[in-house]
Amino acid sequence: YFITIEGGEGAGKTTVFNELEKRIRQKGHQVVRTREPGGVQLAEQIRDILLHTKDIDMDDRTEALLYAAARREHLVKKVIPALEEGAIVLCDRFIDSSLAYQGYARGIGVEAVRAINEFAVEDYMPDLTLYFSVKPEIGLARVKKDQVRDWNRLDQEKLDFHKRVETGYNLINEEAKDRVQVIDANQSMEKVIEDTLRIVEKHI
Ligand code: C5P
Ligand code: MG
Repeated sequence: YFITIEGGEGAGKTTVFNELEKRIRQKGHQVVRTREPGGVQLAEQIRDILLHTKDIDMDDRTEALLYAAARREHLVKKVIPALEEGAIVLCDRFIDSSLAYQGYARGIGVEAVRAINEFAVEDYMPDLTLYFSVKPEIGLARVKKDQVRDWNRLDQEKLDFHKRVETGYNLINEEAKDRVQVIDANQSMEKVIEDTLRIVEKHI
């Protein structure tokens, strides 16, 4: 069973993820927890280029291709083998991030980014996607308070960019209603965790 987690900056994905992982393990399932971009060595190296290399001026389509390349590598080396062993795979971000960030917010176009990602993932799609919906103002305020968070190239973007990410996700979610569950992440983290566990327990 393949579960992906999506959301804008400061949606609280990491915090909720920790609880979700714990709960699924307690129920006796084998869990593989991973993230994008990254999760395997080559993809982590691509992540470093995408997010942690200062002073790169990257073309938008180059960025989209690198995300898609990292996705492909991670999918075939880690996600698919784990699913074949019967594990529940919990993945922090997947294709919807690319559609929202590169396709919509960067302005490449959702369909163009979907096309390169279909090449990258072939027919593999999540069984369930949890979308943490947070107002960009609230999310960015949370990120600012988070002292341990590493510098990331996206920190350069203004509120406007993050609002486009949100609009992008809303459009994508609307087209994938059977797969995506929206969780109100403006609430307290306790409430967000509670809502998440309730939804996941209905599915697995
Ligand atoms: O921890 P988190 O998943 O939020 O960090 C990944 C970073 O990469 C975020 O700043 C996110 O905005 C960015 N990202 C992106 N495009 C993607 C996936 C992630 O800009 N397709
Ligand atoms: Mg995170």
